[in-house]
Amino acid sequence: MDITKFEKYMALITDHPLVLSPSERAGIIMARKDYCICPTCPTYRECAEKADDRCFCTIGKSREGCISDESPGCKCHQCVVYQDVGFQKEFFCTRGTEQQQRVLSVLEMR
Ligand code: SF4
Ligand code: SF4
Repeated sequence: MDITKFEKYMALITDHPLVLSPSERAGIIMARKDYCICPTCPTYRECAEKADDRCFCTIGKSREGCISDESPGCKCHQCVVYQDVGFQKEFFCTRGTEQQQRVLSVLEMR
């Protein structure tokens, strides 16, 4: 079922009041990291591996622009976290979290 623009907007803004404690957030990141397939992606880089960075959908862009070339593609669509949460965006390592990208999409429409 397709949802209306208004419902999409409401889903966006109602996400914001959800404030997690640092330990809750750390727990979610740890669990998602276990399932994250970024290290198998051709876009993933050694600098991210050295920093133990992945799960960019939740933590945001790679540190210090470690990953910048998107041309090899994004494998996020194949990830169980992606499918479970219902993400729609991609290239989280270069473009930021799902939420950041959605907010930007809304702002760019204005
Ligand atoms: S959706 Fe992408 S960034 Fe998020 S855990 Fe899966 S592979 Fe990693
Ligand atoms: S976020 Fe997407 S493009 Fe970036 S490393 Fe993970 S699977 Fe690859």
